[in-house]
Amino acid sequence: MDKILRIDMGAAGGPKVSVGPIGDYAGLGGRAMTSAVISKEVPPECHPLSSANKLVIAPGLLSGTAAAMSGRISMGGKSPLTGGIKESNAGGQPAQVLARLGYAAVILEGAPKGSDSYKIFINKDGVKITTDNSLKMLGNYDLVEKMKAQFGDKIACISIGPAGEMKLASSSIACTDMELRPTRHAGRGGLGAVMGSKGVKVIVLDDTGMGMRQPKDPEKFKKANKDFTDGLKKHSVTGQALPAYGTNVLTNILNEAGGYPTYNFKNGQFSGAAKISGETEAALETERGGLATHGCHRGCVIRCSGTYHDKDGHYLTKQPEYETVWSHGGQCGIDDMDKIAMMDFLEDNIGLDTIETGVAIGVAMEAGLLKFGDADASINLIKEIGKGTPLGKIIGSGAAVTGKVFGVERVPVVKGQAMPAYDPRAVQGMGVTYATTTMGADHTAGYAVTANILKVGGFVDPLKPEGQIDLSRNLQIATAAIDSTGMCLFIAFAILDQPETFQALLDLLNACYGLNFTGDSVVAFGKKILGMERDFNKRAGFTSQQDRLPDYFKTQPIPPHNVTFMVKDEDLDKVYNW
Ligand code: SF4
Repeated sequence: MDKILRIDMGAAGGPKVSVGPIGDYAGLGGRAMTSAVISKEVPPECHPLSSANKLVIAPGLLSGTAAAMSGRISMGGKSPLTGGIKESNAGGQPAQVLARLGYAAVILEGAPKGSDSYKIFINKDGVKITTDNSLKMLGNYDLVEKMKAQFGDKIACISIGPAGEMKLASSSIACTDMELRPTRHAGRGGLGAVMGSKGVKVIVLDDTGMGMRQPKDPEKFKKANKDFTDGLKKHSVTGQALPAYGTNVLTNILNEAGGYPTYNFKNGQFSGAAKISGETEAALETERGGLATHGCHRGCVIRCSGTYHDKDGHYLTKQPEYETVWSHGGQCGIDDMDKIAMMDFLEDNIGLDTIETGVAIGVAMEAGLLKFGDADASINLIKEIGKGTPLGKIIGSGAAVTGKVFGVERVPVVKGQAMPAYDPRAVQGMGVTYATTTMGADHTAGYAVTANILKVGGFVDPLKPEGQIDLSRNLQIATAAIDSTGMCLFIAFAILDQPETFQALLDLLNACYGLNFTGDSVVAFGKKILGMERDFNKRAGFTSQQDRLPDYFKTQPIPPHNVTFMVKDEDLDKVYNW
């Protein structure tokens, strides 16, 4: 994994490919790679859809090896949604395949003049780019079927749906899973629109003939991988809860904790929660012949994923994640699991961020455009996005735009990005992360639910401001580092609680690269990544004013605890003081 593939989509005479050594970016992977390239090579003040922006696709440092859980791929660029730097990562097969092909990053640069759609095929023999306008406006599912027919079923795909082609700010980039379904998305921040602005509809990867990446010290690596896997299996979250019920195990937990935002962040509990909980979802999946436990890529041992079948027992979509079930469920007052699953399918197919879309629909409900609880009207709105009607384009531009167009004050966004499924008043550590992360409101950037609610890695009272700054800061630093390894973030539950599992992760990195990484090096690495991202945002015009929650979170208490967000502005400004 020592090459960088650059494709200049705006070159005179058509896209131009160049392959060069990793050079200055040696030692970086995943988020560290995407943020380093964007920070160094993209003018911070550029328009996100202009030729000056770049889309960087990078497997993690351990991707392509035999290390368990190492299949995350990072996508990075200047975000059309936030206007700041963005890294959004996804599971599925592409990270492993790209890494085995030897690429530390694929960088799409420039922008083509016309409106042609391009298909990029990468295998051991090189890169082939062709114009293929028959792919225009295809949904991700049909697109992947066409790629299978053309290239066989040993491929992995990275693609955009109609939303990305329309350059909507909620558009995602889809990655195929083990069954070649486009179900794993780099959802946040509208990076599908950046791929669309480059004219690229799909990147097809085929690693036939390439072996697994070999570590520098195979014996140490093998032992570390076993210790790491054993550690994940013995932790109650990674070994039991996530495999059994998927991420949606959180619905009942957050609802009981009063931190489940309902009816556009008006209440912290939802009367319909039990009907859309992970327990209900898993039972339905099993009963209908789907799968309640499944890995999104080879080498996943937690297996939080699944497949959801309709009432007739036919595949409908992958197991909708907690945040997806919430954004269309509690946020919109909907408690019909089948309708939510249909929305999940539509969004995967159209290529949309499920969080941003659900929150935008909740904001539209608050405006009176449709009624809270109206699942069919929600489904129709998502279809309108896919068709590109004017109303669909408004909703597909995200919650902030929807709120502006329809005159809504209560719009739950930070830096223009919709808040996920944890109310920042009832889970105050998450409020600190939403406010201060470089990414806009993003739960994965510093998942304080661990210590606030789950009592993983200690306990910090979720309803009080004390301790939240340190909690969020430490999690943001650790997350930036983990997002660079290619490891799924869910390993964090085990490594926060079990020092020997954290050591096994360090041993994996050290055995792979011949390094001597320690806990302190991980912290330094995480800080370096956040520093680059923060610097980019500053140069793009962000100030401390963007590190704030909307005012109403400070003035409108949320039931049942009747609390407001109480962390002071001056304390938020200390998160990046180290
Ligand atoms: S734990 Fe879940 S999200 Fe993570 S790699 Fe496995 S299936 Fe994918």
